[in-house]
Formats: sequence, structure tokens, C-alpha cells
Amino acid sequence: MCAGCRRRDEQRALLRCVLAGDPPAVVPDVRRRGGGRGVSVHPCRECLAKAVRARAFGRAFRLSREPNAEELADWASQQYSRRAEGLLEAAVRSGHAVIGEERVREAIDARRVQLLLLAGDAAERRHRLLGSAERLGDRCVIHSDTTGLGKPFGRPSVAVVAITESEIARELQQAAHRASELAEAS
Ligand SMILES: [Zn+2]
Repeated sequence: MCAGCRRRDEQRALLRCVLAGDPPAVVPDVRRRGGGRGVSVHPCRECLAKAVRARAFGRAFRLSREPNAEELADWASQQYSRRAEGLLEAAVRSGHAVIGEERVREAIDARRVQLLLLAGDAAERRHRLLGSAERLGDRCVIHSDTTGLGKPFGRPSVAVVAITESEIARELQQAAHRASELAEAS
């Protein structure tokens, strides 16, 4: 159950927060690797703020002070960004990432593309690929910028990346979506 809006939801739809560090602090655990007690909330600023107002963290972790909801949201957003980066690196390492406009277009036409990442600062490329990208529907997302997308390929700039493995694509899309949702300050 979400500690903010109190709605029931699947575990993977929720962000788990745990108590960690010294002195102990409430931290997001986006990969669900932390042990011990956890508080689950929807990965959005609204539910985090509601959970803080309801003193959900203080009660669960026996704290005298609630964490700062904004800080927790920023932190979770950064964690999801790093997770997305890690997944992109994994796709590159395992040969499931295609770059280069022609090759990307070919992969789309061959129905091999599970997720298309477009750099936020490459609007022109986006326009040129639109005909092909439209077929991908919601599997086409704006993510990072040309510098960020280039990094895992060891290039200064990459505008578009096609991910051809479904499991990496699914997790990457979710992490990227949550990172941008949480980054939007209310
Ligand atoms: Zn919620």
C-alpha cells in the first residue's frame, strides 16, 4: 500500500524507502536491495508529501522527525536517473543498443526496437525519425541529452539510441519515466 495516498498497488509500482547510513536517514531504495523495514510510496512528489504529512516514515522507523519530502523526491529522481544510465550501459555491453540514424531506422523497420531513446537536445533528429518512431508509440521517449546518451558509447554526442532487448527496455523506460516525474518540482 502507498503510505501517501493509501491506495493499494503492486509492489513494483511503488518506491521503497529504507533507513540507512550513520546517522540513520530515510533513503530511497529504487532497486529494492536494502534490508529491514521499508515504507512504500508511489514514485511521485504528491504521495511522498502526503506520506510525510501523515508521519508515515516517523512511525515506521521510530524517528522523532519526518524526512524532507522534497529532498527525498530529488534523491529518488537521481537514483532513477543513475539506474537508467546503468541499464543503458548494460544494453551497450550486451550488444542490445543501436546508434546511427540509418541503423536505428533499419532496426525499427525490422521490428527489433523495444525502446527508442531520443536526446532532449536533438529536436531536429527527432523530426527526421518521426515517421519511423511513430510506429513505436509510447516506446519512444525523450531521455537525457546528446552528451549523456553518448557517454556509454564513448562518444561525445549521440542523439538517438534504439534498445533491442525487451527486459532492459522495460526497466529503462520505467526508470527514465520515474526520474523525470520526480524531477518536476511542484
Ligand atoms: Zn500513492
